[in-house]
Amino acid sequence: MITDANAVWIFDTTLRDGEQSPGATMNVEEKVIIARQLEKLNVDVIEAGFAVSSPGDFDSVARVAEAVERPIVLSLARTREPDIVQALKSVEKAKRPGIHIFIATSDLHLQRKLMMSRQEVIDAACWAVEFARKHLDYVEFSAEDASRSDRDYLIQIFGEVIKRGASTLNVPDTTGYAVPEEFGASFADLIKNTPGGDSVRWSAHCHNDLGMAVANSLAAVRNGARQIECTVNGIGERAGNTSMEEVAMAIATRSDFFGLHTNIVTEQIYPASRLLSQVTGLIVPANKPIVGANAFAHEAGIHQDGVLKDKLTYEIMRPESVGIQSNKLVLGKHSGRHAFAERLKELGVDLYKVDMNKAFQRFKELADLKKNVYDEDLLAIVTEEAVRTEDRFELVEMNVSSSTGKMPHAAVRLKVEGQDRFDEGDGDGMVDACYKVIAKITGISPKLERYAVKAITGGTDALGEVSCLISQDGVTVSGQGAHTDTVHASALAYINALNKLQYRQRHYREGENEGP
Ligand SMILES: [Zn+2]
Repeated sequence: MITDANAVWIFDTTLRDGEQSPGATMNVEEKVIIARQLEKLNVDVIEAGFAVSSPGDFDSVARVAEAVERPIVLSLARTREPDIVQALKSVEKAKRPGIHIFIATSDLHLQRKLMMSRQEVIDAACWAVEFARKHLDYVEFSAEDASRSDRDYLIQIFGEVIKRGASTLNVPDTTGYAVPEEFGASFADLIKNTPGGDSVRWSAHCHNDLGMAVANSLAAVRNGARQIECTVNGIGERAGNTSMEEVAMAIATRSDFFGLHTNIVTEQIYPASRLLSQVTGLIVPANKPIVGANAFAHEAGIHQDGVLKDKLTYEIMRPESVGIQSNKLVLGKHSGRHAFAERLKELGVDLYKVDMNKAFQRFKELADLKKNVYDEDLLAIVTEEAVRTEDRFELVEMNVSSSTGKMPHAAVRLKVEGQDRFDEGDGDGMVDACYKVIAKITGISPKLERYAVKAITGGTDALGEVSCLISQDGVTVSGQGAHTDTVHASALAYINALNKLQYRQRHYREGENEGP
């Protein structure tokens, strides 16, 4: 079954569990872009969504299944027939299809949520696994809330689903309750005592509520697990999931200790982190291990001295090994279309997905505004272009004025489904004035939950990246905009969010967030 005993598979659930972070909702195009990057990272499994939950989710899984070749692509499913049928259908076109079936096993969940007996849960799991196994080889079974489930019962249900053909058994710490020593020991016990336990791949799925998701996942692999379920930047519900970059780099950097390896192409870690942050608007904290802005910055004088004398004195990893380039300067005003396209290719951008005329024009405009255009700027331009396929609202022009003693004033022209619309008005600040006018034109006035500005690269001419989080009727989405002018970037971010809100309201049903 398991060909390389020392290989730890990376099961990426950025597009399913990760998407459950408030404001991390992605549309189909965005998910396909992320999936392509996950393939470059060389993750082993991509969980692309929960097909039965909505038509939008089904499409996302189906499109991702077609877009990648090497990773197994799967959908989450409960043990019910419609779930399994939709999940199987969604991966029909995948080169390597799979399915992830789950049901809760803790008494608390059985009594309060499922209203089922232990035997009924076993029967449901067996039926679902057996049904799915007739159609494909990779059948993963998850015992939701496993870390709070009775051990003997877990051994019993796992043994039964192995008999029905489950190839991977997942032990989720759904609530982030586990402690490394205890969680590791449970794997040793389960693998040893489950009938057929030595013939399947064991998987850990951890949440970070107590900050131990990475430690728990590593304790699991020390005790025989050979798959870790995780997300890029550790995004996910509440405090998030296990962070992909942290487990991958821990296993790589301390291979002397673990004696294991993953298939991750570590040089693709930083590009993946940036891309996800740009697509979702979820900003990576500066002190985040591996991918935070300060992860490799040596501030203290004594450290800097040490680093200059010999990098090994204070550095356990090289920034280049996770894809952070030391030589960041790339293009400028005089760079031509060919150089632009070449650089995008090096950054791993799929050119056929990008409207090159539009993207090059944006690049030229940007190069006129600032001297140096960095990789991050280029990625901001193309991700912005690539994901705006189904936009109802588009910014045509805007004029915002502010002077001492006068209310800031905004005049905005938008295209609303192709029609030109103009309006103007005042506000408490320039961004406020601008947002009020946009709300007036579009007829949508959501609640602005969060608003953040960040310079993508250094200098006062830096490209400003604005992200905002808006909500309406229980739907929360984020929007991003990048421009050298912050007010302009703010308008782009707001319009982006409004487009996503409308998209979400058309294609998804809310409130189906469930899973291990
Ligand atoms: Zn989860």
